[in-house]
Amino acid sequence: MDIIDSIPTSKTLEINAIAKKLKSQGKDIINLTTGEPDFPTPEPIKEKAKEALKNNFTKYTDSKGIYELREAISTMLKGKGIYFSNDEIVVTNGGKQAIFNSIMSILDKGDEIILFSPLWVSYIPMVMLVGAEPVIVETKFENDFLPTKEDIISKLTDKTKVILINSPNNPTGSVYSKEILEEIAEIANKNNIFVIADEVYDSLVYDGSFTSLYGMVNEDLLIYVNAFSKAYSMTGWRIGFVATKNEVVYRRIAKLQSHTTSSTNSISQYAAIEATVTDNSKMVEEFRKRRNFAVEKAKEIGLDFVNPKGAFYLFFKSPVEDDEAFCKELLEKKLVALVPGSAFNANGFVRLSFANSIEILSEGFKRIGEFLKENI
Ligand code: PLP
Repeated sequence: MDIIDSIPTSKTLEINAIAKKLKSQGKDIINLTTGEPDFPTPEPIKEKAKEALKNNFTKYTDSKGIYELREAISTMLKGKGIYFSNDEIVVTNGGKQAIFNSIMSILDKGDEIILFSPLWVSYIPMVMLVGAEPVIVETKFENDFLPTKEDIISKLTDKTKVILINSPNNPTGSVYSKEILEEIAEIANKNNIFVIADEVYDSLVYDGSFTSLYGMVNEDLLIYVNAFSKAYSMTGWRIGFVATKNEVVYRRIAKLQSHTTSSTNSISQYAAIEATVTDNSKMVEEFRKRRNFAVEKAKEIGLDFVNPKGAFYLFFKSPVEDDEAFCKELLEKKLVALVPGSAFNANGFVRLSFANSIEILSEGFKRIGEFLKENI
């Protein structure tokens, strides 16, 4: 139990739970902690789930995922210029399990994985769970939270087995440029290092276009992860996937999946077939409006931040050194819930989710502005 006892609980889920509890007690909470779209899942996807139920599609499935969904994912990816056949894809319980299965299928005890900080809350615990070593490359506010080639090279050792890239990034909203991705791919290819590409926010990009790592990293070294959660407002359906042309890693991931969860939920898988042909551009457009609104308001109240190009987070410098104290006091005094940067290995920063309506965001920024005037 030592390993499990040593890993922290998910701070984002914890804070979200506190905010939800206060709300259920009748408090007028503005909850800007959420890491999920506030839109309902599109109707055609829900209809497809009803069809699955009607047809009694309620039994165990192939542990790699139903053939029809893997085929549909393969076709969807082709549209993005990404080529994986159905037998190179494993459907998982969200992107989260895709990442965990990948980490567990590559890293042995003592192996090192390069992670870029600020980072998503679950990466370090996942690495710790397999007894491997997270090696952190700090990215800088001044550099749009993007790493430099030199920083990565300085962390390489003969134990480096994986580099994990998350673009668009949670919590910073940064989108990795083609140039930096090429540099990372070159390092990986030259040193025979696996790359896990966590691209779960790939369709939520507001400036310019998104560049995938696919095609840059040698086929045998790339582990590609994506999910339906963020892009189609399907967080609760728990459908993600991992794709790789590395047959050894693929077999391990599939085996792990079969022994841990048998398969993902049959109804969700069936519904996700519809998601692969769903147009989410209206939702993306709405997120772009909210991003622009959040940026404008954050400037107005004097927050210091990097313009988020993707995902749905605004990551700003904490107005006081202790980001946890700032978030706690803001919640107590103004009933606005935000996530302290320390949850993302980034002390001194705060994450605000703009996956909320303009009305909610407007009230949230108003209260944060008042708090800053009264307390800072
Ligand atoms: N990767 C990143 C960067 C995330 O922010 C999340 C969810 O918050 C995930 C992966 C996992 O997403 P899912 O809900 O599909 O498991």
